[in-house]
Amino acid sequence: MARSYVREARRRVGPKRERIRPIVERLQAEYPEATIALKFRNDLELLVSVMLSAQTTDVNVNRVTERLFRKYRTPHDYLAVPPEELENDIRATGFFRQKAKALRGTMALLLEDYGGRVPGTMDELLRLPGVARKTANVVIAERGQAQGIVVDTHVRRLSQRLGLTRQEDPVKIERDLVRLVPREYWNVFPHLLIWHGRRVCIAREPRCEVCVLNDLCPASRVEVGTFTPHARA
Ligand code: SF4
Repeated sequence: MARSYVREARRRVGPKRERIRPIVERLQAEYPEATIALKFRNDLELLVSVMLSAQTTDVNVNRVTERLFRKYRTPHDYLAVPPEELENDIRATGFFRQKAKALRGTMALLLEDYGGRVPGTMDELLRLPGVARKTANVVIAERGQAQGIVVDTHVRRLSQRLGLTRQEDPVKIERDLVRLVPREYWNVFPHLLIWHGRRVCIAREPRCEVCVLNDLCPASRVEVGTFTPHARA
């Protein structure tokens, strides 16, 4: 894309500080049910689901955890079976050896340092083997106390297209987003972008012509001058 075109597109849509609330509000109106797709009933199941979701789909994780959570109910249960049995039970999520090792290490630390409970802060969660910032952010956000903004592949792509960040690195993207997105939206914001990214702002072929954000988006492919401002703006 030519530089002048990018500048013109950014000028057309206006500063991101003015666009962020309408962006969130329109997506909330579009996806009132936007929430995490993983299925869990308590903090431990949430943590395990998120750890298993690396490099696979949420649907796949749910399929595996439906059986897994009937068998493994406490941190002790993950340590009570031979490592190979746990590997087998999570095999379908891929990278099952690393994931089983991380799960066992995490369960051991939960029992040792946290009385078998999942801790609540970013620093504590990052101590758990196999738990990186993204996993910790998801766990914290789902418990209603977001301390950051989850950046996955959809959040990254949409934030870039919407001109909310120019960064490539997820940590730097998150830094830009937490400065921009009002704190009350930190929990829901990633879900909204993920839902929109799966349905409309698809990686290969964004459907700009039906996108509720097309007049707020510098990457819109809808021809300039043909926007229909959305009633919800
Ligand atoms: S206008 Fe197009 S590029 Fe921008 S958010 Fe919508 S679908 Fe994505």
